Amino acid sequence: MKTHATAFAPGPPHGGAGETALSLDTVTKVYGRADRGVRALDSVSVAVPRGTFTAVMGPSGSGKSTFLHCAAGLDRPTSGTARIGGTDLTRMNETELTKLRRSRIGFVFQAFNLVPSLTVRQNIELPLRLAGRRRERAWLEEILGRVGLAGRQRNRPAQLSGGQQQRVAIARALVTRPDVIFGDEPTGALDTVTAKEILTLLRTCVDEGAQTVVMVTHDPVAASYADTVLFLADGRIADRMRRPSPDMIADRMTHLGAWA
Ligand code: ADP
Repeated sequence: MKTHATAFAPGPPHGGAGETALSLDTVTKVYGRADRGVRALDSVSVAVPRGTFTAVMGPSGSGKSTFLHCAAGLDRPTSGTARIGGTDLTRMNETELTKLRRSRIGFVFQAFNLVPSLTVRQNIELPLRLAGRRRERAWLEEILGRVGLAGRQRNRPAQLSGGQQQRVAIARALVTRPDVIFGDEPTGALDTVTAKEILTLLRTCVDEGAQTVVMVTHDPVAASYADTVLFLADGRIADRMRRPSPDMIADRMTHLGAWA
């Protein structure tokens, strides 16, 4: 079952062992009025080491999206601190946050979010253009090879399958050599076989490319590709598991009332 766990030798963490790629320190997020608003995150603290794969799970409304948005600088915590590679996001203004997201964070979404009028190559280069960074031909070729799209770089997204489009999105996320790649249900729109290919690719990015991946998912099989699974319930971290099997994850989710 867990062939992915043994298919790759664990690579050394990027930038040295023990470094933290991102962290939340007592992050609370309240939507609406402080006294009777919704407490979407309640004093959450977590540190994600570089070169690891983390899955975030939990029942609907448990705070997964809010966690992802606060960790990625898309939303501001009401209190507490969020850091990417040691940089405190809560001290940055909107312009600085936009710049940081473009250069140091990659995103992969359920709906791929590619630009339909651009070719595969142009989509992948887009973050570099937006950040005003030079395009290195050799690096682009390497990424295209890594995601298995070397022959498709002149195609438009509509000419590709869903799995291939998600490969483009992963290449686009990798191109700036970000501190973290965030995935928001990246396999949610894919069939089981294609989902496995995409999860294996993300696993390879971590094991062979020393990337850090944090992925929200509701799928126990998808979460089983991660090194660590965080379980959220009512805005708190209810549990964390190291390299659990899909069955262990499903069992934990059942106890959190996820599928009641
Ligand atoms: P999940 O991703 O696990 O479904 P969310 O982070 O989306 O959970 O939501 C956590 C809680 O915060 C829920 O109760 C939700 O209704 C609430 N919430 C999320 N976003 C907003 C918002 N913009 N305004 C008010 N409440 C929100």
